[in-house]
Formats: sequence, C-alpha cells, structure tokens
Amino acid sequence: MIVGVSETFSAAHLIPGHWKCGKVHGHNFKVEVEVEGDVKDGMVIDFYELKRILKEIIDKYDHDLLNKHFENPTSENICLEIFNQLKERGLNVVRVRVSESPDKWVEIRLYPDSSNI
Ligand SMILES: [Zn+2]
Repeated sequence: MIVGVSETFSAAHLIPGHWKCGKVHGHNFKVEVEVEGDVKDGMVIDFYELKRILKEIIDKYDHDLLNKHFENPTSENICLEIFNQLKERGLNVVRVRVSESPDKWVEIRLYPDSSNI
C-alpha cells in the first residue's frame, strides 16, 4: 500500500544563465512524497512520522536562498536531493513531486501511472 504526505516551503532562487529565472525570485514550493510498504499493525508508516522526516529535510530550505544549498537550484535538482535524503533515511520512496507553482512541477515516480492503463 502507498502512503503519501505533502509539505510546503517558501524560498528564493535564481537559475544561473537562464533568460527569465536568472534574477532572484521566490516560489511557494509544494513537496509530495509517497512511500510503499506492507501494512503492519494497521499502518505502512505513521503519517506524523513521515511528515516529521520530510519537514526535517526541507526546513533548511524554508525562507532561504536555495543557491546556498544547490549549485543549480532547479526543481529537478531539488526533487532529486529530497528523494535521495528520504532514501538515506531508509524509506521505500516511490514518488516525490516538487511543484514550484500549481502549474509547474517535476516528479520522480518509481511505479507506472495506473491512469494510463
Ligand atoms: Zn524559479
């Protein structure tokens, strides 16, 4: 079964050399995470534990300049870093989506999209 949570953070960045995003600007980022596992004692993982871990990872980005944390702070690089940090904490992550606005997002997804079947 898959369990998902989401959290948000607000941060500034600039994308070096980009015609539009090369100037400092901000986003309200939304991060969605899903983990997969067997149900034990009624749960795959406690929602609060998963949210605590996600917050621990993204809190350092909140109200900060992302260029201090990433050489090139694109949504793709942010998504990959969050995915790797979740994996390092031993979670069986199957999806991470980072949205920099409601109409722009990137996603790592390790399972087929069932809506295409
Ligand atoms: Zn941006």
